[in-house]
Amino acid sequence: MTSHYAIPAPPVPCLPVRNSDDCFPVHRIYCVGRNYADHAVEMGHDPNRETPFFFQKNADNLVTNNGDFPYPASSKEVHHEIELVIAMGNGGTDISRKNALNHVWGYAVGLDMTRRDLQSEMKKAGRPWEIGKAFEHSAPCSDAVPASEIGHPNKGSIRLKVNGEVRQLGNLNQMIWKIPEIITILSGLFELKPGDLIMTGTPAGVGAVYQGDLLESFIEGVGEMTTRVV
Ligand code: MN
Repeated sequence: MTSHYAIPAPPVPCLPVRNSDDCFPVHRIYCVGRNYADHAVEMGHDPNRETPFFFQKNADNLVTNNGDFPYPASSKEVHHEIELVIAMGNGGTDISRKNALNHVWGYAVGLDMTRRDLQSEMKKAGRPWEIGKAFEHSAPCSDAVPASEIGHPNKGSIRLKVNGEVRQLGNLNQMIWKIPEIITILSGLFELKPGDLIMTGTPAGVGAVYQGDLLESFIEGVGEMTTRVV
C-alpha cells in the first residue's frame, strides 16, 4: 500500500460487531428491489416472481451506532424501508445456491432511506435511481452479528415503528427471493467481495418521515436499531 496518496485517504466504512471490539469493513452496498409481494403491490407493481433487480448505495452512506438521520436536501418525501442486511464474508462469481450461505459472514438490520419524490421522477423518466437512493446518511445500519452466533435467518418478524406506532410489519419468510437465491443471482452480475452488504428488500408499509421522528427497527433473531430524524 502506498504511503503517497495525493490527498488523505478516506476512512474504511465499518459496522461495529455486536458484543465485540471488531468492526466489519464495508466494501459495497447492493440493494434488492421489490422483494416482498405486499410492498410490490403498494408500489403499483406485479407481485409475481419477476427476475429480481438491484441498485446500489455507497458504503459511506452508512449511519452506525444508532446515529441520527439528517433530513436530506432536495426532497419533500423521504421514506423509510426496513430491510434485512446480509454481510458477505467471502466473495466470488457465479456462487451456487447450495454454497451461497457459506459465503455469508453475518447479518444486520438496515434502513434503505429513500427520497421517494426524486426516485419517482427518475423512474418516470427512465433515469438512474442514485439521487433517490444513494445520498448521504441513506443507509442507517445496526451492529453486525455473525451467522456463527445467530444462524441464517429465514423467518421471523421484521418491524419498523415510527414514534411508537407500527408502520411496517412483515416476516422474513415473505421474501420473494431468498438469501441463497439473491447471492446466486447477484454474483452472476458482479464479482462479490468480502465486506459487501446486501439489503434484501422491504415489506409493505413504507411511508414518509419528518424531522423529530424516532424510527425503531427490529428483526427477530438479528437485532435492533433506533434512528432519530433530525
Ligand atoms: Mn429498499
